[in-house]
Formats: sequence, C-alpha cells, structure tokens
Amino acid sequence: MRIATQLYIVPTPIGNLEDITLRALRIMKEVDFILAEDTRTSGNLLKHYGIEKKLVPHHLFNEHKTIENIIGRILDGATCALISDAGTPAISDPGYLLVHSCIEAGIRVECLPGPTAFVPALVNSGIASDHFIFEGFLPHKKGRHTRLTTLAGEERTMIFYESPHRLVKALTQFTEYFGEERYASVSRELSKIFEENIRGSLKELIAYFEKKTVKGEIVIVVAGKEINGK
Ligand code: SAM
Repeated sequence: MRIATQLYIVPTPIGNLEDITLRALRIMKEVDFILAEDTRTSGNLLKHYGIEKKLVPHHLFNEHKTIENIIGRILDGATCALISDAGTPAISDPGYLLVHSCIEAGIRVECLPGPTAFVPALVNSGIASDHFIFEGFLPHKKGRHTRLTTLAGEERTMIFYESPHRLVKALTQFTEYFGEERYASVSRELSKIFEENIRGSLKELIAYFEKKTVKGEIVIVVAGKEINGK
C-alpha cells in the first residue's frame, strides 16, 4: 500500500546503533527521499542498516531556501523522512521550521517515537520527572544571564545540553544562580561504551569533573528550586 503524502520525522540512535525502531527502519526504506542534516554521517548510518536511499541535505544553513522545494515535492505525492545526526530532529536540531511549514501547507506530519538524549538523562538523574523544563543549549553570550536569572526561581527540574569543554564552566556558573548545594546530575555518553551518570550537589560535580579532561556528549539535569524550603 502506498503511504499518503506526508513528512515523517524519524529519530535515530544517540550512540548505540541498536537503538532504532523497526518502524523507523521501515519508513526510511519506504519513503521517496530522506532529508539529512549531514549526508555523510547519515549515509554511514543507513549503510549500517542496509538502506540505500537518496539523501538530501537539510540543515540550519539551507533550510530557509530548500523548504519550498521540499513542500512542493511532498504535495506532488512524494513521501519524505527527516533525520538528524543523532536523536530526534527538531530537538536542538533542525526540524521545527520544516514541520511548521508542512503543517501550514496541509501536509500530514508524523513524528515517530524514538531516541533523544534528554529523556534517559532525566530518568537516570533520579530527580523529579513529573514536571520538567527542557532548555537545550543556553545562549553563549547574549541572553544567557537573563535566562539563568529567570531559571533561578524555576521549581521544575531543568535540563540542559552542554558541550564537554564548557561543562565545568557551566556548572560553576550555575552555582551563582542556583547555589552550590543544588542537586544535579551529569549524563555523559548516553548509550555508549563509556556512559556515566554522576549525581550530587553542583559543588560535588565541579570537584569531580574539574580533575579530568571531559570528553563526549553531555546532558546536565538540575533539580528545581524547592518549594517552601522542603
Ligand atoms: N536531537 C538530539 C536529541 O534528540 O537529543 C540532540 C542534538 S544536539 C545537536 C546534540 C546534543 O545532545 C549534545 O551536545 C548533547 O548535549 C546531547 N546528546 C546527544 N547525544 C548524547 C549522548 N549520547 N549522551 C549525552 N548527551 C547527548
């Protein structure tokens, strides 16, 4: 059966290549073309799964220019999947603009459930997961102070993406806004061989990570401000 005109958002592994769903593999085989953030990275991934498919570059630097053409092809009857380098597209990755534009154009959009880094980091942290706020990457300069000032009063668990070489700097800066006793967790290299989840006060985390050269991919989870000092 031919699938209806539509865009599929397909999550791919964040490290362990076993973390791909059967449906993700089937959709990638069935669609007419796949949009990929980096065609070389995704080409290697698809090769691993034995999928031969035309990959079309779709990244932050060209998405404004290419969306019209992509929408035209989908409206003409082509089916399309969007993948990013790792995890779920549109989560700190390109995707939002395409999804938004396809919905506006009346195209059916379906995001498959699948890997994303912040969910295992949140669950591994052991910090309250009933209410949380995903911050992704904080702005480096402009707007960072304003964002952190707002977050100083945040009662929900906060989730941040950070690069390894900025980890200690970010944790140190967090102590200025959240206090050094604030409980947090750092997840490094989730689903990979050297995965580690380190939990403790911000002060303890800084002491742990400043002794080493931090490598790999990082998610920081910070407990929210306790209500009524509880
Ligand atoms: N789309 C991805 C997702 O669904 O999580 C996020 C892409 S963003 C460009 C890359 C960031 O995600 C990394 O800098 C890191 O903060 C986080 N990340 C991705 N893979 C990870 C992993 N295996 N372990 C820890 N963090 C990871």
